[in-house]
Amino acid sequence: MKNILFLKGKFQEKIWGGDRLRTSYGLDIPSNKTGEYWAVSDMGNMDSTILNGEYKGEQLGEVYRKDRELFGNPKSRPFPLLVKIIDASDDLSIQVHPGDEMAARLENARGKTECWYILNEDKASIIYGLKVDSKEKAIELIDDRRWDDLLKEVPTNKGDFFLVKAGTVHAIKKGSLILEIQQASDITYRLYDYDRIDKDGNLRELHIEKSKEAIKILENKEEIKEEVGKNLKTRLLTNNEYFEVIEKSIISECTFTKNNPYSIFAVVDGEGSIRICDDSYELKESDFFILTNEVKSYSVKGNLTLVEAISKE
Ligand code: ZN
Repeated sequence: MKNILFLKGKFQEKIWGGDRLRTSYGLDIPSNKTGEYWAVSDMGNMDSTILNGEYKGEQLGEVYRKDRELFGNPKSRPFPLLVKIIDASDDLSIQVHPGDEMAARLENARGKTECWYILNEDKASIIYGLKVDSKEKAIELIDDRRWDDLLKEVPTNKGDFFLVKAGTVHAIKKGSLILEIQQASDITYRLYDYDRIDKDGNLRELHIEKSKEAIKILENKEEIKEEVGKNLKTRLLTNNEYFEVIEKSIISECTFTKNNPYSIFAVVDGEGSIRICDDSYELKESDFFILTNEVKSYSVKGNLTLVEAISKE
């Protein structure tokens, strides 16, 4: 059985982490300072494990490298996307990721475009872009440390979506619970950390010069295309050069045709089941799975919302 791969990821404890991965999703977190759940990952020692079928117990990256057909023989060598849930009980630092060109030149790595699907039920906020419209003005404000004049804070509600293109200054703020889908890259430049000191009395390392170089003044807004049918509401959240993300809200039952090689799914709300050929699998919030190249159609039953991510690499 290789048509559906259920995945289990690893956790990362963070000084800003919390306990909502357990209280909201029942995940078995290591402590009440758990900041990240790397649900779908092929990165370093944070790789995900397959929970079912022929590859049960194997790592996602291992299977991705040996059974290329299962993923439609993709160009990308490492698994190209990383999908996380982030629980912030404090503000994260203000940061920016380089684009592919800068990351290749300075870090021998790939750039990072990411996106956020908001899961917090209570209102929270994020830093999303800048209040100024030129890079010169942005650098002036950074040099003068006029953070309030520079950073744009945006309120967030459950179901909101934000595309964070490489070069966009951003930060996750206290109270946020976020599904993050991103290019699998770890290059982050920290611009500002609220002058916080760690337990040893030190300021965290910043990367101000690299941040200034990486910053782009970008239009991140894409129009979200919504389609409402009888048993299904879909929202095309982004379709950028690296990935496509679609929200599918199912009411009662719906059958889908699958035209792409493989899709990653997160169950973000509700519960139900998925049927592929003659097999049916239960689905609940915080389940993550991949439908492989073997799947041409599937049906979903229940009242639930899925977020689907499709890599273009
Ligand atoms: Zn980021």
